[in-house]
Amino acid sequence: MHSHLIKDLLNLEGVIVKKVSHSDEDVVIMLETKAKPQICPACGAKTGRIHDYRMQYVKDLPLQEKRCFLGLRKRRYICSCGKRFLEKYPFLARYQQRTVRLTAYIAAELHSLQSVQAVAERTNISSATVNRILDTISFDRSSLGNALSIDEFKGNADRQKFQCILTDPRKHKILDILPSRESAHLSQYFKQIPRQERLKVQYFSCDMCRPYTDLAKAYFPAAKIVIDRYHFTRQVFWALENVRKDLQKSMSVSLRKYYKRSRSLITKRYASLDAEQKKACDIMLLYNDDLRRAHRLKERFLAIFSQQKFSAKRTAFLDWIEEAHLSGIRHFEKCAATFSNWSHEILNAFRYDFISNGPTEGFNNKIKVLKRVSFGIRRFDRFRKRILLTTN
Ligand SMILES: [Zn+2]
Repeated sequence: MHSHLIKDLLNLEGVIVKKVSHSDEDVVIMLETKAKPQICPACGAKTGRIHDYRMQYVKDLPLQEKRCFLGLRKRRYICSCGKRFLEKYPFLARYQQRTVRLTAYIAAELHSLQSVQAVAERTNISSATVNRILDTISFDRSSLGNALSIDEFKGNADRQKFQCILTDPRKHKILDILPSRESAHLSQYFKQIPRQERLKVQYFSCDMCRPYTDLAKAYFPAAKIVIDRYHFTRQVFWALENVRKDLQKSMSVSLRKYYKRSRSLITKRYASLDAEQKKACDIMLLYNDDLRRAHRLKERFLAIFSQQKFSAKRTAFLDWIEEAHLSGIRHFEKCAATFSNWSHEILNAFRYDFISNGPTEGFNNKIKVLKRVSFGIRRFDRFRKRILLTTN
C-alpha cells in the first residue's frame, strides 16, 4: 500500500508514514512531517535550521483491536537567537502522551454505562488518566424549568449514604446531582440559584418529607407542592404486603411459601390477571378477611387514577382515607393517617397529573447500573459527572 493511502487510513494531518509494524498486541506506526520553516517561539523569526531529532511515542485510537502507538520523529529546530524548540503536531496537545482524538474518544466513552476501568483497558490508558480526563469535563447545573422534582438515592459517595437527584419532571431531564440530602446542604445549594430563576418553578415534586416541603416553601414560593404518585402509592402496596406478611406468620410452612411466591397475584391489578390467575387470587383472599379487605383497598386506591375529572378523584381519595381509617387494619390506618396529613399535596398530584417522578425512577435504575459496573464510586464529583454524562 502506498504511504499516502495509509495516511488517509490513519486520518492524521500533515504526516508521512515511514513504517508500520505489528506485534500480537501492538501496532506501531512510525511518522514524520515534511520539513518546513518554523516561527521561533522566543523571537518570532523564521528558521529552518534543524538542530537534532527526538523520538516520541504517543498512544492513539486502538487499531484492529490492538493498542496503537505513533512513533514521532520530532525535529528540534534552532533559531539564530539561540532558542531550540520542537516542532508541533496538530493532532497532539502540548505535553500529552496521547493524541487529541484518543482523549476525545475516551471522553465520549464515559457517556456510556461502563466502568472507568473498562474504558481504561480498552483504550490502553491507565484508570488514573481516564479519571483525569473525566475531571476536565465540566458540567454546570441545567437551568430550572417550571417544574422541579427532588428525590434521593443510596449512592454511598463521599461517606454520605444518600445523594439527591434534581430533575425536571416535565422535560424528563436530570438537572443536577447533589452530594447530600441534608437540609443545610440543600438550603445552601438553592440559595445560590438566582431568585428570579427560582420563581419560575410552578410545581415542586417530592416525597412525603417535611424537610423537602419546607425547602420548597422557602426557596420556591411560587410552586405548588406535589407529592409524587409513586411515593404515595407505594404506601398502599406496603400496607397490603404487611397484611400478607402478618397473615403468613400463622400459616404452615408450605402455605406460607405459597403466599410469598404468589404475592404478585395480590399486588397486581385484578383486572390485569387472566382467568386462571383471578381464580388463584380469589382463593388466596378467601383465606382471610383482613387480606381480602386490604386487597379491596388497594384496588379501590388504584381506581382513583382512572377517574376522569379531578373532582371525582378528590371525592374518591377522601372516601378512601375514610374507609382505610375505619378498616380496623393497623397498616391501613397508618396509611390513612399519613394521607390525611398530606392530603393537600397528594390531591395536587391528582390535580396536576402531568407532574410525575416516573422519569426519576428510570434514572435511579441507571445509577444502580453505574454503581454496579464501577464497584461503587467513592468520589462524589466523578460520580455526579458520570451520572450526568450517561443520562443527558
Ligand atoms: Zn529566535
